[in-house]
Amino acid sequence: MLQNQYDIVIIGAGPAGLIAAIESYKSSRKILILEKMHKPALKLKISGKGRCNITNDAELGDFISHFGKNGRFLKFAFANFFNTDLIKYFGKLGVRFKLERGGRYFPQNDDAGEIAKVLLDKVQSLNIPISTNSEVISITKLPDNNFVIAVNKKGLAGNRNTQRIQIKADKVVLAAGGKSYPRTGSNGAGFKLASQLGHAITPVSPSLVPIETKGNTAKNLHGLSLKNVKAQVWRGNKKVDERFGEMVFTDFGLSGPIILSLSKTVVKLVNNKEKVFISIDLKPALDHKMLERRIIREIDEHSKQGFKNLLKKLLPEKLVSVFVKKLEIPEEKQLSRINSEERKKLRILLKEFQFEVIGYRSFNHAIVTSGGICIKEINSQTMESKLVKGLYFAGEIIDIDADTGGFNLQAAFSTGWIAGKNAVHALG
Ligand SMILES: Cc1cc2nc3c(=O)[nH]c(=O)nc-3n(C[C@H](O)[C@H](O)[C@H](O)COP(=O)(O)OP(=O)(O)OC[C@H]3O[C@@H](n4cnc5c(N)ncnc54)[C@H](O)[C@@H]3O)c2cc1C
Repeated sequence: MLQNQYDIVIIGAGPAGLIAAIESYKSSRKILILEKMHKPALKLKISGKGRCNITNDAELGDFISHFGKNGRFLKFAFANFFNTDLIKYFGKLGVRFKLERGGRYFPQNDDAGEIAKVLLDKVQSLNIPISTNSEVISITKLPDNNFVIAVNKKGLAGNRNTQRIQIKADKVVLAAGGKSYPRTGSNGAGFKLASQLGHAITPVSPSLVPIETKGNTAKNLHGLSLKNVKAQVWRGNKKVDERFGEMVFTDFGLSGPIILSLSKTVVKLVNNKEKVFISIDLKPALDHKMLERRIIREIDEHSKQGFKNLLKKLLPEKLVSVFVKKLEIPEEKQLSRINSEERKKLRILLKEFQFEVIGYRSFNHAIVTSGGICIKEINSQTMESKLVKGLYFAGEIIDIDADTGGFNLQAAFSTGWIAGKNAVHALG
C-alpha cells in the first residue's frame, strides 16, 4: 500500500534507479521506487543480447574517451565507483564474471536476468518497495521544498482502471532512462518531467542504431556477418570516423558492433542533411600494394581457373556474386585473361566496398539515446540538479552515451550509485 510521504522517491527501476535505491538505504528512511512497467528492469534483462555486458576493463582515460566529449562529466563518478568496484559489488551479491574480447565483462552464466535478479533481491531484502504499473506524469516542487509526484497507477491484473495518486517526497532521483527501446518502458517521458522542472534537454536522437543504405546490395547480403573488417564513415570525400571489428548486413542496410559504434557520427551527419557513405575495407591487414601482390599470386597460381574462383578465395561465398555484378567481369573469364585494369577494380572494391547512407533506424531499434538532460545543469559530484535542490539524475536520462562494450551500463550504475548516496546524505 503506497503512503503519501517518502524521504526519497526514485523514478525508474532500471539499473540506475535500482542501485540508487540500494545506496540511499537507511533503516530510518522511507524510500520508494516508482516503475511504470508491470515489471522492473526490463531493459537490463535483455541487455547484451540477454548476456549483459556489464562493464569494460578499459582504464579510466580510455573508458571515458568512449563517451565522446561529454565523457569528462563522468570523471568524478568513475573515480568513486568504477569497473572493478562494480564487479566487486555484484561479486558480493553472488555473481561471478568472465572477461571477453574487447575487455567486455559478462556474468559467467551469460544471464542478464541474474544481474537483474540479484539487484531486485537486494532491494527486497532492504524492504524498499517497488511500485510497478506506476507511471509518473508530473513532478512539482512546493515552496516547502517538498516534491509532489503525480502518478497514474494501473489497476491490478484484470482491473483496467487507472488511479491518479499524489505522493510527496523530500528528494527525487529521476532515473527514467532515455527514449530507446520504448517497449522496455523508457519512452522519453523522463525528459518531459525534467523540462517541467526547468531543465534544458539536449536534443535527443537514436544512437548505437543500425544504418539504412541505398539500393539492394545490403539486402542481398542479408545475414552475412564479417569479422576483422574496417568500416569508415565518409562525408563527401573526407573520412570522419572509422572502426575495426565485426559487422552484419541486414535487409535494410548495415548493423553489428562497428556499425553501431559509428552510428553516432552517421546520425549527426544525416540530421545535418550531409551526404554520407560507409566504406568497408574487407582486407584491412593488406595495404593496396600487398593486396595487388596477393591477387597477382592467385592469378599466377590458378591461371586456368575462372574469375569466380579467385573471388571465392578472397571473399565469403555470399559476396562472390555481388562482386561479379559490381565489377562487371564475367565469372567464367579465365584468370590469365584478367588485365591490370580489372585487377585494380577488384582491389579497390575489396578495400572500398561502399554504401550510401539514406537514414537510420528509429528509437525502437536503438541501444541508447544520444542527448538528454544537459550536463551543465547537473553537479557531476553529486548528480544533483543545479537548478532544483533535492532533484537528482541518474543513468541514460543524462546527456551521456558511449560505444558498445559495457560502457553505458557502467555509466548507469556509477551515476545511480552517486545519486543514491548523495540523496540520502542530503537528508541529514
Ligand atoms: C537491446 C539493448 C541491449 C543493451 N545491451 C547493453 C550492454 O550489454 N551493455 C551496456 O553497457 N549497455 C547496454 N544497453 C544500454 C543499457 O541497457 C542502458 O543504457 C541502461 O539500461 C540505462 O539504464 P537506466 O536505468 O538509465 O534506464 P532504463 O534501463 O531504461 O530504466 C529506466 C526505467 O524507468 C522507467 N520509467 C520511464 N519513464 C517512467 C515514468 N514516467 N514513471 C515511472 N517509471 C518510468 C522505465 O520503465 C524503465 O524501467 C543495451 C540497451 C538495449 C536497448
